[in-house]
Amino acid sequence: MVKKDKVIVITGASSGIGEATAKLLAEQGNKVVLGARRKENLERITSDIKTSGGEAVFQITDVTKHDDVEALAKLALDEFKQIDVWINNAGLMPHSTFDKLKVNEWDQMVDVNIKGVLYGIAAALPAMRQRKTGHFINLSSVAGHQTHPGGGVYSGTKYAVRAISEALRQEEAAAKSNIRVTIISPGAIATELPNTITDEDLKGGIDQLYDSVAISPDRVAETILFAINAPEDTTMNEILLRPTIQQP
Ligand code: NDP
Repeated sequence: MVKKDKVIVITGASSGIGEATAKLLAEQGNKVVLGARRKENLERITSDIKTSGGEAVFQITDVTKHDDVEALAKLALDEFKQIDVWINNAGLMPHSTFDKLKVNEWDQMVDVNIKGVLYGIAAALPAMRQRKTGHFINLSSVAGHQTHPGGGVYSGTKYAVRAISEALRQEEAAAKSNIRVTIISPGAIATELPNTITDEDLKGGIDQLYDSVAISPDRVAETILFAINAPEDTTMNEILLRPTIQQP
């Protein structure tokens, strides 16, 4: 039987996939702990969950700051005594071609999409090891399997998420810690993600792609729920999902 009262921390919970996942998991009886930078969004989402009878707390969290991520884990432990699932979801995708030299955006992607995931692992692993149970869910992407002009840095960060996740999975399997690691790799999902693109030569085409094929973030939330609800002796190692009409 699937226990439905897990304590689940979600980074990047202020919009898109994080918001949809927080709402679905709370609706299913789990306690959710939300982190992101936009306070108003976190307040609104937490209040929506509570109004529907769910349990949620939030903390302003910048995943590029190790201390912030540790504080988010502490909030989960102080409020709910344990961390069952940690979802490393925060991410951004300011695509650009290399010749635009948008070095600050490269830095941002490395800091949020890679270092943010590492800080999440650092924050939750000790508590999970202590209880000999836990589950990391890390958001990679179809872009973590293939790349294209303009997507080099973003893809690089998402390939990195897959490498980090797989090594962590193997280590925890060897340690018999009962900690599961799942990679979720979506295709085009209708969220605020393309809004971070500042390369005007690329933005139009990507907006057009998203307008024509993207599916609801609820589909990713349902996929994450499926991975969490797998029997404890089984790990969904990676789930790759795309809109049915998305080609590459
Ligand atoms: P959104 O832009 O809607 O959500 C991104 C989230 O990340 C926001 O909640 C944002 O919150 C948060 N975030 C960004 N920077 C930081 C930071 N420094 N610290 C904490 N939180 C941060 O996009 P999605 O929901 O689509 O993205 C979620 C994940 O899914 C990302 O990792 C993305 O790469 C991945 N993904 C998305 C796909 C898509 O097509 N949408 C496809 C494949 C993967 P705030 O600004 O409040 O801090």
